[in-house]
Amino acid sequence: MVKQTIQIFVRVKPTKKPTSGYFVDCEEQGSSLEFVVPRDLADGFINNKRENYNFRFQKVFDQTANQEEIFETIAKPVADNVLAGYNGTIFAYGQTGSGKTFTITGGAEHYNDRGIIPRTLSYLYHHISKDSSMVYTTHISYLEIYNEAGYDLLNPQHEAYRLEDLPRVTIMEDSDQNIHLKNLSLLQSANEEEALDLLFLGDTNRMIAETPMNEASTRSHCIFTIHLCSKELGSATVRCSKLHLVDLAGSERVGKTGVGGQILTEAKYINLSLHYLEQVIIALSEKNRSHIPYRNSMMTSVLRDSLGGNCMTTMIATVSVEKRNIAESMSTCRFAQRVALIKNDALLNEELDPALLIVRLKKEIQSLKEELALVTGEQRSDKLNQEEIQQLEEQVNVYLEDPDNEVTLDLGPDMRKIHFCFFLLKVKVRERHSAQNGVSNGSSPPLKGMSDGEDRKPHDELQKLRDTVTHRDNEISILVSMLKREKRKVQDVTSQLAQLHNQNPSTCSSSRSPTALQAEESEKCDTSLDYTHAHHFITRKRVSELSVGKQTAFEVFLRDHEDRLTIEDNRAVLQQRFVEAKTLGEQVNQTRIRVNELKTQLKIRRKQMAAQVLTGNQTESESDSVEERILNQIEEQKKNYTITSGCLKGLRTEIEHLQLLREKSKVKLQRDFENWWIQEGARLQGHSAENTGSSLSHVSPLSCMLTRNNNPKGDDTDTQERRQRERDMRQRALPSADLSFTSIPLTGDKQTDAEIQAFIRARHNLLNCTET
Ligand code: ADP
Ligand code: MG
Repeated sequence: MVKQTIQIFVRVKPTKKPTSGYFVDCEEQGSSLEFVVPRDLADGFINNKRENYNFRFQKVFDQTANQEEIFETIAKPVADNVLAGYNGTIFAYGQTGSGKTFTITGGAEHYNDRGIIPRTLSYLYHHISKDSSMVYTTHISYLEIYNEAGYDLLNPQHEAYRLEDLPRVTIMEDSDQNIHLKNLSLLQSANEEEALDLLFLGDTNRMIAETPMNEASTRSHCIFTIHLCSKELGSATVRCSKLHLVDLAGSERVGKTGVGGQILTEAKYINLSLHYLEQVIIALSEKNRSHIPYRNSMMTSVLRDSLGGNCMTTMIATVSVEKRNIAESMSTCRFAQRVALIKNDALLNEELDPALLIVRLKKEIQSLKEELALVTGEQRSDKLNQEEIQQLEEQVNVYLEDPDNEVTLDLGPDMRKIHFCFFLLKVKVRERHSAQNGVSNGSSPPLKGMSDGEDRKPHDELQKLRDTVTHRDNEISILVSMLKREKRKVQDVTSQLAQLHNQNPSTCSSSRSPTALQAEESEKCDTSLDYTHAHHFITRKRVSELSVGKQTAFEVFLRDHEDRLTIEDNRAVLQQRFVEAKTLGEQVNQTRIRVNELKTQLKIRRKQMAAQVLTGNQTESESDSVEERILNQIEEQKKNYTITSGCLKGLRTEIEHLQLLREKSKVKLQRDFENWWIQEGARLQGHSAENTGSSLSHVSPLSCMLTRNNNPKGDDTDTQERRQRERDMRQRALPSADLSFTSIPLTGDKQTDAEIQAFIRARHNLLNCTET
């Protein structure tokens, strides 16, 4: 058991302008973060008017700290413990916008910005692939908790437009008070690529489900869990550990009127489940508290082990040092100081593998049987034969009919016979009972014990051995049923996966060669400007499948979108990486060809030398400089090969990550577009209510686009609700579809009127072409 307090770290988010309100003091034994609050400012919200507030942490990461440093210092030691069989948890706590998601998951723009989750996955899979002495299995789950309800972020069969569309996860507690999460997908991921796909799927679901209405990301908690099992080859013990990577809800106190409304100092409240988390932390940090209120909220129930239980836990407090955020940052640091008092007892999670245990027990039974045969001097099978059964029946009859109460039934040291005789006696008692029509008052003579003078030692020994065998038999049947259950589980998961694969055949490709990757990518790059998100898990419609009108609207929207530059940058980086990967792939191939050539040369040379030895031109002991040179060259090429293929592998991981980032941006873009579209529709409705039968001057560009969108196939939403909403919008916008040259008042200005007419002509053409 490892006893350890929760480790606390703090990360300061970079500020745009230099700030002077804080100091970082680094010492050997931890470091501290100090806030300086001028007295006049302190008047407002701090009573004792101190100026300096000092908080100690294991380490303070100042603004310049990068993601690599965070991973190396915070996450790597936890990942190492998880590999060794201990549970681990890393959670980020801080106000909205302070960098929790950036720290845990990473930024969506650059490869270097990837956070703790992708880096930890990379680290774990790298270790797993290197360690051939153990067999590892990994599963992933991703849970979002919002308003005390759990949602499964990894369910690929659900199209989430709202969080409520995702499957609900519920908590169950067994008789040993262990928590089980019902409905939460636990998906196996054999390699880094598959795990990243799952992270992407979860993040996408999380992003899509988040709307300005629920602001899920600020008020919900997300728990990404890696379940790792490892087993030494041939050993019956399995180590199963869990690593929770937690992105908590924003810790800010908000006014009851909501983030957007007036925030009243006295009416501030914190997200309810964070409030319960605080209560648990306070209870744990106080001595002599027997009751810890874990059950008050779903989050504290799920993280029960991480808080004062079987887990090594680390907290990252994320703070912003801008003036307006100092109060919240100090409150975050205060919370961290409490957390640092909590002690956890991490246990090595070792269990016996039922299948291997059965094999081991069967062996043990076999050797016990052999031992038994040695003691009794006879080889026996599990069952009595016909002759023995007949003999025993006779013996029992003689025993029962003998009037002497002292008589014994001598069966020898054989449990099979003893059990059979008991069985016969029971049958006979029953028969007598039914013969007496249920009247029996213990009239049968009482059984007497064995005579004391008998030598019981060998018998006892034998009895013990037989008992052990029976015991083992029972264990085996229990284990066999456990095994069956496990098998059933595996089958269920396999069939789920098969279903998934059938629905999305593209997921089948797991390991792709650099050239295949490149071919695929060049295809993607060609179509990338249509900004679709055709990731295999997300089965939404492509933008290219949108109606002409909506597509045009999309282009307008895209032109001004803030993410456009990032997407284009990423695309350029990705293309550059592909070129690099292609060059490296070619180099690897060249090296391989060169090594093969050298090997052939070596063979030929050796044959030549052998021939020369045979003809006596050369002695065997003479070293051959040509051969040596070839060998050296092979060695050199091999080194080259290792280096180049290593680089290629790294590049491939980067490319995959960039592709996922790009897909994510596309999904975000489309979600933003959908929201914009609906908003514009609503705005338009307002306009058309104000100006029924209005002139062209009141029609916004989008309304024109909307009116073009009269093709039934142009409806690109899948939910009934959305379809209805769009239909309504189109109907509302339809009056303006009747616009003609005559219905438009011209301005009198030549150029303007010419433009208006050109616009109407273009619009007319467009309408015609969407109708056909
Ligand atoms: P939270 O999850 O706490 O609400 P985010 O992680 O979403 O906050 O961060 C808010 C914004 O600040 C994001 O745009 C993010 O990219 C940026 N950000 C946060 N921390 C950092 C950092 N250390 N370096 C660069 N950008 C950061
Ligand atoms: Mg966040």
